[in-house]
Amino acid sequence: MRMYDIIFKKREGYELTEEEISYFVNEYTNGNIPDYQASALLMAIYFKKMTKQETVYLTKAMMNSGEVIDLSAIEGIKVDKHSTGGVGDTTTLVLGPLVASCGVPIAKMSGRGLGHTGGTIDKLESIKGFSTELTKDEFINNVNKFKIAIIGQTKNVAPADKKIYALRDVTATVDNISLIASSIMSKKLAAGSNAIVLDVKMGSGAFMKDIDSAIELAKEMVDIGISMGRKVIAIVTNMDEPLGNAIGNSLEVKEAIETLSNKGPRDLIELCITLASYMVMLGKETINFHEAKKIVVKSLESGKALDKFKEFVKAQNGDIEVLDNHELLPSSKFIYEVKAKNNGYIQKIEADAIGNIAMLLGAGRLNKDTEIDLSAGIILNKKVGDKVIEDETIAKLYHNDNTRLEEAILQIESAIVIGNENLEKQSLIKAIVEKNNIIRL
Ligand code: URA
Ligand code: CA
Repeated sequence: MRMYDIIFKKREGYELTEEEISYFVNEYTNGNIPDYQASALLMAIYFKKMTKQETVYLTKAMMNSGEVIDLSAIEGIKVDKHSTGGVGDTTTLVLGPLVASCGVPIAKMSGRGLGHTGGTIDKLESIKGFSTELTKDEFINNVNKFKIAIIGQTKNVAPADKKIYALRDVTATVDNISLIASSIMSKKLAAGSNAIVLDVKMGSGAFMKDIDSAIELAKEMVDIGISMGRKVIAIVTNMDEPLGNAIGNSLEVKEAIETLSNKGPRDLIELCITLASYMVMLGKETINFHEAKKIVVKSLESGKALDKFKEFVKAQNGDIEVLDNHELLPSSKFIYEVKAKNNGYIQKIEADAIGNIAMLLGAGRLNKDTEIDLSAGIILNKKVGDKVIEDETIAKLYHNDNTRLEEAILQIESAIVIGNENLEKQSLIKAIVEKNNIIRL
């Protein structure tokens, strides 16, 4: 087989075979195909697209390029969740304990991630002592005993995706639905859970800017998962403004604890209840969404979910005192209060821009060697549609280092738009995508 022929075939718009796709994935990962040929193929895929079948082959090859985790020693149907990446998305910290408290096992690998804030692993590490590096036996035992464990992603999950994604990133070939879907699903499938609930974000802070392309991506991922024998449901949610009020690592841990205490921001609670209900429905098999939702809401209201979080933190050596005393979380030296310049209503909070500001303050990684400031970030005091009066604090910037503060202030003043229109609150959940059913809400 020659890489040249594969590139030529795709350039002309023909469908590649499973052998051709595996050849590309394996040989590129092993260093036997140069970047320029791999780039040419990716660009041909970008323009000529891939069929569903090709996308499944690509996913399978990338999944099998590394370790495929075997969770069969854990009782029950293991359920995982993935979000396509929003700003200030605190959901995993809430969902893990919430779903586990309903008796459904969560055996989750999470990333650190590049971007606005750290990943779930960084966030958890703002709890003193919390260990995200369990041995495989500890991981499995914890899930059997407590129904939940979250560990850092091993380096060897889907290494082909890592290499191809890095190349896509510098060749303007990220935003192709087949490539995104196969990239995400190769990692999720390798992580070993039986069922997966996907949260596909749409809007200014997401890959997919409009509802139709978000549904298309959701459908593609659901179909891939099902063709690989998993149960998959996707929900499409709005990411025009950040989720909840907190953006930043320890700030989001605090927000998660409040949400698990049933005192969180309205949008974050709504999203967590919806995602958790689908996860519980898939995990328990014999109940429908409404029955699952009753269980989830009860767990949240009764304090069972919060107790589970405590148990989970303790099981991974974290300091459970932080649950009662938030002062024990990393906190920043300085807080800058952003004031409203005039009376009105919040028209817009640009999620993308807010993410970049959080990064300027030190909450995220620009590249993989950047040190994260776990205490840095943003609290939004207002959300879209809220009324504001002149001089009122609309956001707070948490930071330790003044060097980028001026830039952050300038940016946040244009990211939060105040106007006269009394806007209706946007609904958060836009569509539910199942195997043979798409519901637009
Ligand atoms: N996230 C991924 O993991 N892969 C993509 O291609 C896009 C987002
Ligand atoms: Ca948040």
